[in-house]
Amino acid sequence: MRAPDSYDAIIIGAGHNGLVCAAYLARARLRVKVVEQRSVVGGAAVTAEFHPGFRNSVAAYTVGLLNPKVIGELALHDHGLTIVERRVQNFLPTLHGDHLVSADGQTKAQLAKFSARDAERFDAFNAAIDVVADVLRDLVLRAPPNVVEGPSVRGLVEAVRAALTAKRVGGLSLEQRRILLDLFTKSAGDYLDGWFEGDLIKALFGFDAVVGNYASPYTPGTAYVMLHHAFGEVNGKRRTWGHAVGGMGAVAASMAAAAQRHGADIETSAPVREVIVERGGACGVVLADGRAIRARAVVSGVNPKLLYTKLIAADALPKTFLDRMRRWRCGSGTFRMNVALSRLPRFTCLPEPGDHLTAGIIMAPSLAYMDRAYQDARQQGWSREPIIEMLIPSTLDDSLAPAGAHVASLFCQHVAPEPPDGSSWDQHRDTVADLMIATVDRYAPGFAASVIARQALTPLDLEREFGLLGGDIFHGALSLDQLYSARPMLGYADYRGPLPGLYHCGSGAHPGGGVTGAPGHNAAQAILADLRWPFRRAARERP
Ligand SMILES: Cc1cc2nc3c(=O)[nH]c(=O)nc-3n(C[C@H](O)[C@H](O)[C@H](O)COP(=O)(O)OP(=O)(O)OC[C@H]3O[C@@H](n4cnc5c(N)ncnc54)[C@H](O)[C@@H]3O)c2cc1C
Repeated sequence: MRAPDSYDAIIIGAGHNGLVCAAYLARARLRVKVVEQRSVVGGAAVTAEFHPGFRNSVAAYTVGLLNPKVIGELALHDHGLTIVERRVQNFLPTLHGDHLVSADGQTKAQLAKFSARDAERFDAFNAAIDVVADVLRDLVLRAPPNVVEGPSVRGLVEAVRAALTAKRVGGLSLEQRRILLDLFTKSAGDYLDGWFEGDLIKALFGFDAVVGNYASPYTPGTAYVMLHHAFGEVNGKRRTWGHAVGGMGAVAASMAAAAQRHGADIETSAPVREVIVERGGACGVVLADGRAIRARAVVSGVNPKLLYTKLIAADALPKTFLDRMRRWRCGSGTFRMNVALSRLPRFTCLPEPGDHLTAGIIMAPSLAYMDRAYQDARQQGWSREPIIEMLIPSTLDDSLAPAGAHVASLFCQHVAPEPPDGSSWDQHRDTVADLMIATVDRYAPGFAASVIARQALTPLDLEREFGLLGGDIFHGALSLDQLYSARPMLGYADYRGPLPGLYHCGSGAHPGGGVTGAPGHNAAQAILADLRWPFRRAARERP
């Protein structure tokens, strides 16, 4: 019989995926506890007051990838979630008077200003992306086929899973399969150069390829990261981005409310010190304050490298597994700022206030500029001409700032995850924050003078605050060697770790990073299958 203080599942980390997993497990009537090191839930999806009267999403800042099935099944709208769409998707200003606006029904006319050929090709480009994005959409809520050794029942199950994936891809025409191959292997730069001639249209899509991805847009594999940002939707509209009213913390709050409604117990300010391993299996956690909490399933929502190198004794893990996990590639190259503004910015190329100020404002006018930003960061620690996306959520949500004032998110790339000269990011925070403000000021003179207060998070701050190693926003690079059946490692893509009773529910599992809820959803299915049918779990036990 179970001890009264033990649970069916203990979840490490109340990031949004931990909360989604908790909600699904609790909904299935399991006894679930979530323990979070921070004083608030949400992980990277969180809102905070960073200056008196000014609130903003601290890290993640825009919604588009959150899975509609998760929203529906967990009734997130009934638990307080409201998502409003940007009135313009993106606005790309330049320093010499031109600009590009991408918005429903307007983008083609905008493109025609620069190139009739680009405007003509735009629909075909979107159709090509959509074909592959549709395949991804079908795969995000399914465990990838897991690679297993030797003939076994598990092997058969995985073979069926692989056949289902092959069937989905096999349904594509030959040309569509070629597009899929391109998008999984090519650089975004090569892919986009093959379609368009205008710098701004290529920059619009190229930004998605380097966001959170410490790479040049000409690095092979970046076309996939571009695609990863294309499979979302908001309020039923595909490839649309929106804003959660109240900031990203409202997304997490709605998930926490759903989990609690079904009976999950969520404890904050409760860091896990280590996972308890007995007789080769995971069976609970010890918190920093020494309390032990036991459970049939131990579910990790943290970066897998953090789990395996910091929270589990090395001698409890298979050596080859641990060696590989130590080489898990983390490090995003992002610098995140929140600023309180006394007034809206006036861009030289489009000065009057308008819907373009509700957009993701991308300051990075070409792929060549993005390539230089990466090369510069590798050599000097940060790019002297950085890539910045600015979002001003108070244009869509007046709950974030006092009347007449505004808040803006600056998502800045590229900075090195660790400065190459061995110095600490603590020495450079203010210098780089000044550079980011000055960069926006070049496009919108007067911006610097309108900044009332600022919050700046270096990669080191993201690691310290949220456990995002190297500031990696995805819990591990989205490169081919770390995707799908290889996320987090070949043989462990089914949300089950190398120890019986241990599971992965965070972004380090398929389909990876972003506020999607998908890893949390998928992990819950694996855990439910094992806890309901323990004989199946035994059959799956690792050698
Ligand atoms: C700066 C930034 C900007 C981003 N922008 C966007 C965006 O606009 N849109 C988007 O969709 N995605 C964005 N992302 C990506 C997205 O936010 C993340 O991929 C996603 O939120 C990760 O969710 P998660 O639940 O998997 O993990 P996390 O949110 O990382 O949650 C893990 C949780 O575990 C906790 N934890 C760590 N160690 C312990 C421990 N020892 N004990 C207990 N708890 C622990 C952490 O505190 C954290 O709460 C951004 C990320 C960052 C960092």
